[in-house]
Amino acid sequence: MYDIAVIGAGPAGASAALFAAKAGKKTLLIDNDKGMTRRGWYENYYGISEIGGPDLVETGHKQAVKFGAELIAGQAISINKSGDGFAIETDSGAAYEAKHVILATGVLTDLAVQAGVETKDGTEPRIKTVVAVDASGKTNIESIWAAGTVAGVSVHAVITAGDGAKVAINVISELNGARYVDHDVLKA
Ligand SMILES: Cc1cc2nc3c(=O)[nH]c(=O)nc-3n(C[C@H](O)[C@H](O)[C@H](O)COP(=O)(O)OP(=O)(O)OC[C@H]3O[C@@H](n4cnc5c(N)ncnc54)[C@H](O)[C@@H]3O)c2cc1C
Repeated sequence: MYDIAVIGAGPAGASAALFAAKAGKKTLLIDNDKGMTRRGWYENYYGISEIGGPDLVETGHKQAVKFGAELIAGQAISINKSGDGFAIETDSGAAYEAKHVILATGVLTDLAVQAGVETKDGTEPRIKTVVAVDASGKTNIESIWAAGTVAGVSVHAVITAGDGAKVAINVISELNGARYVDHDVLKA
């Protein structure tokens, strides 16, 4: 069983998976590569002068995989409660089990609705519906969380990436039973 399954590998999901895997959590990242991020050109991402969407997405995937996240190409079609966690099925017929699920599905809420997660009207331009979350990223279903555009944050890459990191840190902290920080020290 995975500790954390992240659905969607845009900035929100890949950032969440990066933090989860780097914290030593068994992490699954499922993505069908239909997100909005590839279409953008970014000059407002702190720390990066400018970057094209494909490079931003692919660098994020490489960072998550570098720390041990398993990146699976495919569409998650269902999430159902199973024992102590959730069973996640993909369009290829594959099934995975995870203790915690982070929804990072961008503009799409169909999977959340299938899973029984509550949604609400979006407030950002062109984002009609989002998942209802509390300040930590928790949905109405225990151990299903949401991050990024689908969780209703401002639709900017640096914010969705930060939100994915925030939610992952909250999940890691819950798994560890203590607040978690990930600080590396400057290398000589
Ligand atoms: C044309 C354009 C230009 C932009 N320019 C800027 C800019 O200059 N600066 C800026 O800050 N922001 C910009 N943005 C916004 C920015 O791209 C987004 O705010 C941010 O990248 C969204 O990240 P996300 O991870 O929430 O969603 P996404 O990047 O959309 O990622 C969601 C991922 O989930 C996957 N997914 C969804 N459902 C499933 C499922 N059931 N199973 C598996 N995978 C699934 C999708 O395929 C996708 O990969 C722009 C957006 C667009 C469209």
